[in-house]
Amino acid sequence: MSELILKTAAQLADALAAGETTSVELTQAHLDRIAAVDGDVHAFLHIDAEGALSQAAASDARRANGDALHALDGVPIAVKDVLTTTGLPTTCGSKILEGWVPPYDATVVKKIKNAGLPILGKTNMDEFAMGSSTEHSAYGPTKNPWKLDRIPGGSGGGSAAAVAAFEAPLALGTDTGGSIRQPGAVTGTVGVKPTYGSVSRYGLVALANSLDQVGPVTRTVLDSALLHELIGGHDPLDSTSTTTPVTGLVDAARAGGTGDLKGVKVGVIKELAGEGWAPDVMAKFNESVDILTKLGADVVEVSTPSFQHAMAAYYLILPAECSSNLAKFDAMRYGLRVTPDGDPSAEDVMKASRDAGFGDEVKRRIILGTYALSSGYYDAYYGQAQKIRTLIIEDFKKAFEQVDVLVSPTSPSTAFPLGAKLDDPLAMYMQDLATIPANLAGTPGISVPAGVSDVDGLPVGVQLLAPVLEDARLYRVGAALEGAIGPVLSIDKLEVAR
Ligand code: GLN
Repeated sequence: MSELILKTAAQLADALAAGETTSVELTQAHLDRIAAVDGDVHAFLHIDAEGALSQAAASDARRANGDALHALDGVPIAVKDVLTTTGLPTTCGSKILEGWVPPYDATVVKKIKNAGLPILGKTNMDEFAMGSSTEHSAYGPTKNPWKLDRIPGGSGGGSAAAVAAFEAPLALGTDTGGSIRQPGAVTGTVGVKPTYGSVSRYGLVALANSLDQVGPVTRTVLDSALLHELIGGHDPLDSTSTTTPVTGLVDAARAGGTGDLKGVKVGVIKELAGEGWAPDVMAKFNESVDILTKLGADVVEVSTPSFQHAMAAYYLILPAECSSNLAKFDAMRYGLRVTPDGDPSAEDVMKASRDAGFGDEVKRRIILGTYALSSGYYDAYYGQAQKIRTLIIEDFKKAFEQVDVLVSPTSPSTAFPLGAKLDDPLAMYMQDLATIPANLAGTPGISVPAGVSDVDGLPVGVQLLAPVLEDARLYRVGAALEGAIGPVLSIDKLEVAR
């Protein structure tokens, strides 16, 4: 194993700038790591060794001429398989898109290409990003590198596991209800959901348009800031893209690294604790809150009463939006086509294709969403859920009149065993209790490793939330916390071999 894979993206960028390594060397080191461990972890659905190495060689040629495109030019990255990539398959973890190679790049993919980051491959995910364990992938689950019989979180378990297993220094994920932050929490990595609209959704195969957001998955807060600044910014191709830029993220992460939080007001969310929260998670969370106080932050308790209805609202709004989004998979334009025997009509083909192409969780949500949107029930369900959404936005507003950032555990438990919640959709949905409110309100959030559980030795995450467009606060407080807690993830703690 090459020691290069142990370095953070920021360290790799420095090493490249100093001429101490080459992009080809470090891309190869990560490809070797993938070859050695991904048979066990299954973080990747597609590995593009050839493409990554040729992008790396091009990066080295640029560096040799002093023409680096970006600080991260030459640092390899993994991309969640819900983001379109020219020339590389994009399946969204679904059989219905098996073999589909998109003719265009998502804007975030274009940005990482334009900055010279070699793409190692596409990462596994719950089908169409529905799930909290990556077990709903049609291509088999990803395993948590800490303990291979545990889930890596979801839906972006592949990106989180790739970064946690040192198969990639950086990854892109997407977060609709927690799919970057919760996998971050259970794999001991850092995951960020940026302010809604501040990172382009163009080329992100939509789960729920009003909730989806692309964001970074990394091993350090600074690395997330570097990647976040690279992928952010206005995009005319995304009609919900904000024109106000989110800036100062790297500076904030560096400032936070000094460990001084004097003058920062932190609110502990009263509603995100108590019943349903594992005691070992709460113990680590409380330690993090004590650390924030020691770093000089002024910590108070804040109440956000509408958060208790967030799950119910989310599981109406999300299915409603996704039932409409997934209507385009009709076997006519692209993807799987199943033609029944006899003389089938176009509708028979659509039915057979959708039946064979979608998994159970996807079908469940399509049925739920179609029902919630049907004319007789629209006001009773979808309309009510939208009202809850407004109340949650109001709760955030009131909370941020009192404090600068909010804090809670990211996930109610550490990584649970594979299979444990697969037959119990509600138990699976409960994993996102703490993460969903930010998606409903469009506010940014980060999950930072808080330590490991005293019970099972598995990582626990702490979530920080900030007001819309104030993502920089997450980096300042997150970096301070990270520095004081010290490294949580190390290769020697993983079950996958060195
Ligand atoms: N686990 C949540 C769900 O199943 C979140 C998914 C996501 O963020 N993509 O909907």
